[in-house]
Amino acid sequence: MYSEDVIRRVRDSINVYDLISGYVALKKTGKNWLGLCPFHSEKTPSFNVNTEKQIFHCFGCGVGGDVFKFVELQEGLNFPEAVKTLAARSGITLPQDNRDHRQDKRTEDEKKTLLKIVAEAAAYFSKELEGPAGSAAREYLRKRGVSDAIIREFALGYVRPEWDGLLKHLKHLNYTPSQMERAGLVVKRSEGEGYYDRFRGRIIFPIRDMTGQVIAFGGRVMDDSLPKYLNSSETALYSKSHVLYGLDMAKDHGRKQGYFIIVEGYLDAIACHQYGIRNAVATLGTALTDGHLRLMRRFADKLVLIFDPDPAGVKASLRGFDLFVSSSMKVNVVSLPGGDDPDTFLQKQGQEAFAARLRQSAKFMDFVVEQVVKSSPSRSIDEKIEKAEEMLSYISRLQSGIERDHYLKKTAEILDLDETVLRQEMPKQTMKLPFAPAGGTAPAAPAAGRRRPRAEEILIHLILKDEGIARSLKDRIEPRDFTDPLFQRAVERIFKMLDEQGKLDTGALLREEDEELKNLLSHYAVLDMVYEDPAKSFQDCVEVIKQKDPEKKMKLLIRAIQEAEARGDIATIKRLTEEQQELSRRPGRKIPGKSGTSTE
Ligand SMILES: [Zn+2]
Repeated sequence: MYSEDVIRRVRDSINVYDLISGYVALKKTGKNWLGLCPFHSEKTPSFNVNTEKQIFHCFGCGVGGDVFKFVELQEGLNFPEAVKTLAARSGITLPQDNRDHRQDKRTEDEKKTLLKIVAEAAAYFSKELEGPAGSAAREYLRKRGVSDAIIREFALGYVRPEWDGLLKHLKHLNYTPSQMERAGLVVKRSEGEGYYDRFRGRIIFPIRDMTGQVIAFGGRVMDDSLPKYLNSSETALYSKSHVLYGLDMAKDHGRKQGYFIIVEGYLDAIACHQYGIRNAVATLGTALTDGHLRLMRRFADKLVLIFDPDPAGVKASLRGFDLFVSSSMKVNVVSLPGGDDPDTFLQKQGQEAFAARLRQSAKFMDFVVEQVVKSSPSRSIDEKIEKAEEMLSYISRLQSGIERDHYLKKTAEILDLDETVLRQEMPKQTMKLPFAPAGGTAPAAPAAGRRRPRAEEILIHLILKDEGIARSLKDRIEPRDFTDPLFQRAVERIFKMLDEQGKLDTGALLREEDEELKNLLSHYAVLDMVYEDPAKSFQDCVEVIKQKDPEKKMKLLIRAIQEAEARGDIATIKRLTEEQQELSRRPGRKIPGKSGTSTE
C-alpha cells in the first residue's frame, strides 16, 4: 500500500469536478454540482458533487466518496488501482511498489485458476449425466419435460450422492482442496481434517456469466429432500446479486424484444427457453437487486416479473418496490393461476397461453393496488384506515406526481373514501415533498423507510459543515447522547479524528471501512441545506437531544420551532416539526382523528 502522504498528494492533484464531469453532465445548483447518477438508473438527478470538500454523494442510491472511490466504482478498480490511475492522470510518479504489482498479478492468476477448476467441474458433471450413473437423472429431466437439446444448451450435469467424487477427480488433475474450496466446490469438515463435495446427488445447473463462462453451479435434488436448491458459495468469480441465470443466452433476445422476463428458478428459465421464450432469466435464490437491474439495463429498459402467486412470492415482489420505482425501468407483473410456476404452466398450457398472460401483464403499481386493497374488500372503517395508510406509504414513494395523483384517486375510489381527505393525509407520509432543499435534490433518508431523530440529524449535518461546531459539540455532548446507533458511530468517528489529527478531513473520513457509516457521512457532508443561524440551531438541538423527559423535550422543541420560524430558518423548522410530530405520535400509529383507537 501507498503511504498516507502519497495518497493525499494524488488526491489533491485531482479536482473532483474535473474528474467526474468527464463521465457525468453536471449542473451547478447551490453549493453542489448535480447530475444523473452513473451508479444507478434514475430520471431525476440526485448525484451531487461538492468541490469544497472534494467529494460526491448520490441521494438516490447512497454511494459517495472521494475521487478514488469514484474511479473505483466507475472503472471497477480496487483502491490501489484507483490511486495508480489517478496518479498517472496527474503525472505523479508513484514510489516503486513491486509487492503491489505482484498482488495484482496474483489476483488475476487466482481468478484464472478458479475459472479452470470450475470448467473442469462442469465437464465432470456433464459427463456424469451422460454416463451410467446419470440414468436416473436423465429420467428425471425427461419427466420434467426437459429436452436433450436444452440439456446440451444449458450444459446440465449430474453428481452422484458421494462425498468425494468431484474432490478425487480434481485432485487427480492436480488441484488442491484449498483451491477447490475457493472455487466454491468443496466444504471444509467442521471436525477433523479434510474436505467434502458441496454438491452430492443433484442435477447440476452451471451458472454462467454474461460472456458464457461457467463461474458457479446450482444443484437441485430429484426427490423431496432439503435443501431443494443449493448454490456455490460466493467466490472471487461469483456473487449472486450480480449474476442472472440464463442472461448469456437471453441478452440478445432481450435487446431485440426490448424486455426481459424474470422467473424464480432454474427449471422455469429453462422451460421458457425450451418453449421459445428466449428473453427469460432467473434470479439465483435472491430477490432482484440493483446489480441485476443494471446488468439488464444494458440491453433493455423493461422487465416482466413472473412471481409465484403464493403469499411469500407476493411479499418478495412488494419488497422490490423501492428498487423498481428508483430505477427508470418499466416493471410489469404477471400472475399465473394458483399453484403454477412458468415451468408447469408452459407444460400444461403451452406457449400461446403463456404469451396471452404476458400480454395481460399489469404495471407494478397496479399489482400493488391489487394486492393491498382489491384482494380482500374491506368493510369496517378500521380496515379502510389500515389499507389507506398502507397504500399511502406506497404512493408517497412514487417519483412522478402524475402517478401519485392517479393512484391516490384510484385508492380513494376502491376504498370508497373521500379523495380530498386521503390527499390531506399524504404529506405525513411524504415528508420530503413540502420543502425540497435548494437544488431540488430530495433529501432521502440514508436508509429508506427508517426515520432518524431530526434534532440528531441537524447536529450531524452541522458538524460536517463546520469544524468549529464539531469542536464545540465535543465538549458538550457524548456519542451515547445520540439515540440512533449509526449517528453514535458517526459522532464517535468524527470525535476520534478531531482527537488524533486535530482537524476534520472529510475525504479521509470517507475512506472509512464501514459502508453504512461511510454512506451516512457522505450523505450529510454533501447535503446542501442552509441554516439561517447555525449556532442557534446547534444550541437548540443540543438541548433537545440532552433532554430525556418527553414533556420537557416537547416544550423545548416547540420553542425552538417558534424561534426558527421567527428567523425564517426553513431547514430547522422542517426537521424539528417532524421530530415534534413524531414525538406526539409516538403512543399510537393510526391516522389521528380517524380511528376509534386513536390516542387523541
Ligand atoms: Zn445513485
